[in-house]
Amino acid sequence: MSMMTGNEYRESLRRLKPEIYYLGEKIESVADHPAFIPHVNAAALTYEMALAPEFEELLSTTSHLTGERINRYTHIHHSHDDLVKKVKMLRALGQQTGSCFQRCVGHDGLNSVYSVTYEIDQKMGTDYHKRLVNLLKEVQSKDLMISGAMTDVKGDRRLSPSQQKDPDLYVHVVEKKKDGIVVSGAKAHITGAVNSHGHLVMPTAAMKAEDADYAVCFYVPVDAPGVIHIFGRQTNDARKCNCFLDQGNVDYGIVGGEALIVFDKAFVPWEHVFMCGEYEFAYELVERFATAHRQNYGGCKVGLADTLIGASYALAQVQGTDRSSHIRDKLVEMVHLTETLYCCSIACSCQGYALPAGSYMADPLLANVTKLNVTRHIYEIARIAQDIAGGILATAPSEMDWKNPKVGKYVDKYMKGVADIPTETRMRLIRLLEAMTCGTALVESMHGAGSPQAQRIMIERRANLERKKRLAEKLAKIGEQPLFVC
Ligand code: SF4
Ligand code: FE
Repeated sequence: MSMMTGNEYRESLRRLKPEIYYLGEKIESVADHPAFIPHVNAAALTYEMALAPEFEELLSTTSHLTGERINRYTHIHHSHDDLVKKVKMLRALGQQTGSCFQRCVGHDGLNSVYSVTYEIDQKMGTDYHKRLVNLLKEVQSKDLMISGAMTDVKGDRRLSPSQQKDPDLYVHVVEKKKDGIVVSGAKAHITGAVNSHGHLVMPTAAMKAEDADYAVCFYVPVDAPGVIHIFGRQTNDARKCNCFLDQGNVDYGIVGGEALIVFDKAFVPWEHVFMCGEYEFAYELVERFATAHRQNYGGCKVGLADTLIGASYALAQVQGTDRSSHIRDKLVEMVHLTETLYCCSIACSCQGYALPAGSYMADPLLANVTKLNVTRHIYEIARIAQDIAGGILATAPSEMDWKNPKVGKYVDKYMKGVADIPTETRMRLIRLLEAMTCGTALVESMHGAGSPQAQRIMIERRANLERKKRLAEKLAKIGEQPLFVC
């Protein structure tokens, strides 16, 4: 077997026994609990679409290791075409889910660790890359979903990992044994963690020699002893348990579903350790992962924006405003912003390049610009969607009142827009727009794949201001004037 169906993925989750807590209770089965079903559905679509004739070209490919047909989410990019196809795949999935389908983080982690382990081995004589390739073969043949766990909880941001009063505020090695390592710490905001098969854990920042214990990269199965998940709250998440229509996006939820993963003296066998003390490579791994994930945001968020534009247009029709010139203009503005983001992701993919391991990565400067633009344009797109929708987005009666035998008829009568369109259509669109523009979904666009300041730092590092200065000096005839500034 190399590609699972959506239902096989759900069944595979039921066979695992991860330790998960939500609202103070231990969860028995993520595949069957209403708080998790939308997230599982969104991830399941990455399996279903890979087998659908309309999407198999985007969502599946051939393994460079085995020659088998595999899900693209387990693939190592080996060309510009692979990088571009990833972006197109994300847009297609975003359009179908209107949410986060989570599987990209582990995919980006695998690609980043693949290339960095190769370079560590070249310099240090280790065998991390071989270990990673072995894991990759397993991931490909079993079609596993891997979370990418990078962000540490960080404690006092002024202090480095080894300076923290509590040594566990960054994930670190607490013991090295003959057969493996013992790790403690926690990773925060980990997308899709509870419905993944395992976690690829990476360092979160550049490290110095004194932080060597924190320069650690490894894989653990989701249900390994000592690995505990605490699932985060989202805007309106109680609606998942007591409403249907009011959820807005009942099938796929509003965003991916993030968890705090705690490692309480978890054991990791050496075969699943891919960095252990090589602190000089921590920054490179962070930058490659950040580049890979920031490349994505003009794909998945663009797919979401497509559905948001569609919802805004449909609601304008229901409310009788769709022919107003200012509404048409606003819809055009939404499209312009959306396609601008898409241009960014396609551009950083086309400008990508090969690494020593033979894999490809996107252009880091353009990938960071992509993500920084998302932190602005998605908010603007959401702002316009709310403008078109009107204040009803914040004041609509609940589906319970609409179904109430006494007042339901008033809700139905007074919530109607254009006479021949059912009130229910308007209510459904209002709730979808509410889910997509109010709360957690927008925060994800800001901080997912790193906060804006992280992009600014990487943009400054890559900006080459000195060369730009030399270009200006040549034209202004300041100092020596070479024929070309290179
Ligand atoms: Fe994938 Fe986008 Fe979700 Fe990141 S935010 S995991 S790129 S869908
Ligand atoms: Fe994200």
